Amino acid sequence: MPHLNETHDPALTSWVDSANGPDADFPVQNLPFGVFIHPDSGAPTVGVAIGDMILNVPEAFDRGVIGGSADDAARACLGGTLNPLLALGGRHWSALRAALSRALRSDTDAGEVAQGNADDILVPMAGTKMLLPVLIGDYTDFYASIFHATNVGSMLRPDNPLMPNYKHIPIAYHGRASSIVVSGEPCPRPVGQTKAPDADVPSFGPTNALDYETEIGFYVGPGNPLGQPVSLGEAEDHIFGLCILNDWSARDVQAWEYQPLGPFLAKSFCSHVSPWVVTLEALAPFRCAAYGRPDGDPAPLAYLSSPQNEAEGGFDVQIEVSIASKQMRDAGEAPVTLAVTNMQHLYWTIFQMLTHHTSNGCNLRPGDMMGTGTISGPTADALGSILEITKRGANPVQLPTGEERKFLADGDELIMRAWCEADGAKTIGLGECRAVIEGV
Ligand code: CA
Repeated sequence: MPHLNETHDPALTSWVDSANGPDADFPVQNLPFGVFIHPDSGAPTVGVAIGDMILNVPEAFDRGVIGGSADDAARACLGGTLNPLLALGGRHWSALRAALSRALRSDTDAGEVAQGNADDILVPMAGTKMLLPVLIGDYTDFYASIFHATNVGSMLRPDNPLMPNYKHIPIAYHGRASSIVVSGEPCPRPVGQTKAPDADVPSFGPTNALDYETEIGFYVGPGNPLGQPVSLGEAEDHIFGLCILNDWSARDVQAWEYQPLGPFLAKSFCSHVSPWVVTLEALAPFRCAAYGRPDGDPAPLAYLSSPQNEAEGGFDVQIEVSIASKQMRDAGEAPVTLAVTNMQHLYWTIFQMLTHHTSNGCNLRPGDMMGTGTISGPTADALGSILEITKRGANPVQLPTGEERKFLADGDELIMRAWCEADGAKTIGLGECRAVIEGV
């Protein structure tokens, strides 16, 4: 686990004033990475969020604002994706974070130099287009919330909601990387093959059961050679950071196609990620115990078990999901909160997921992304999909305009926000992941 160091000190402030507000997602303790389109050159450029501004990392490096032991890491940021930085590994990530912290703080010589270059190294976040931060080669989606697995399982198999393997093995499927897009892009309603329970034959058309899935995504760092698994003790060094992930799903397509090989077109039409990647080092103050397995649950097999994983493999990340229909937005209505859930509800830690993924020798590459699976909690206000909230449409959600939703409608905007709070730590945010559903 990354240790707390001077970059986490809650007393630190930035010379970028907007980073110091109590509600800022991006204070100087956070320093998440993203890729933006440079407003002058039009080039994809690596940036770091600070308050409501973006630090242009290549420009800051060019002007000597960051450097020293962070030279290699800063050079890895000169292209238009984070992949070269991800490939370098933890020592370099940490050196760059330390240099960025010193450059953006209000109490350092480096900060004074940086402030003198502010006009050249800062870009306002508002109006700046963000891109997918990472070239994602492979995407694997897990199923790690036992509450979600139980809720969904009980709709399909009321007597036997959890499959017998669930408490022994982190369940996942290989997702589709090419259709992962960044927050702000639309979600096109997919067309697909479905079969109503009372129909004799399937039909083909737009999904009538479009859903979101509230997840956290995590990006793989250096990766591992084929045939060389990553042990649980090493897994920490292989994850760069977290983002918000909305893994859209077409439930009617899913129900007809999923047997016997699992999800396919019901999931591969679009997934959204938030633009900022919050590093594991920034999340150090918000680490917590892994999910406490109730008495009677089996202990994980040895390769998925360690006292350290149990003690600090979890993350206290809160995630809020809200919806605003087109009619609501036109009427000036604020979005309605559908749920607030927490990463602590995951039965498996992200380290167990990564270790399990490589346990057969499968190689991971820098920039691969994994999703946790829909994060539902134990209570009705912490459900991570509308399938669970409406009980597959039986109890529709009422919107302030008088509209109701069994599943999602064209024009609906889904907004996911995530943040971390802990005693003795500065609150940090993962930002937001939003998208409007576009009809066909
Ligand atoms: Ca999913």
